[in-house]
Amino acid sequence: MCIFCEIVAGNIPGKKVYEDDEVLAILDISQTTKGHTLVMPKKHYENFLEMPADEFGRLMEKVQHVAKKAVKNLEANGCNVLINTNAVAGQSVMHTHVHIIPRYDENDTIRVEFKENKFDLDEILKKINQD
Ligand code: 5GP
Ligand code: ZN
Repeated sequence: MCIFCEIVAGNIPGKKVYEDDEVLAILDISQTTKGHTLVMPKKHYENFLEMPADEFGRLMEKVQHVAKKAVKNLEANGCNVLINTNAVAGQSVMHTHVHIIPRYDENDTIRVEFKENKFDLDEILKKINQD
């Protein structure tokens, strides 16, 4: 069993923020910012690309629910919502999960930086829309 399946099964403790039949949300052990939360399906899927669309939709409804609660009750000014997918994108636990990272100010210990590159947009468009 993977580490998040162990937490879902109750074999390893987790600080539960939200739970229902399908979804569990726990505080991330590393707390990038105060209230950093992981929302996951109870069923093991390696990443969100493998999830049936309806299950992913319900997961994201719960992400919004938990993010609203966290931002309001922790008095954050916003949040980052992030899914790392596969090792290349920084996924280290191979049980899909959504990070909710409450943001308090610009000096929070997280950097999400988009650097600009020059690509041919029409070429990308043709490729991305092929069957
Ligand atoms: P990833 O890098 O896969 O997107 O994120 C995995 C996250 O899981 C990391 O932020 C890490 O701190 C967290 N994590 C790893 N092991 C545990 C654990 O046993 N309990 C909790 N609550 N979080 C964990
Ligand atoms: Zn798992």
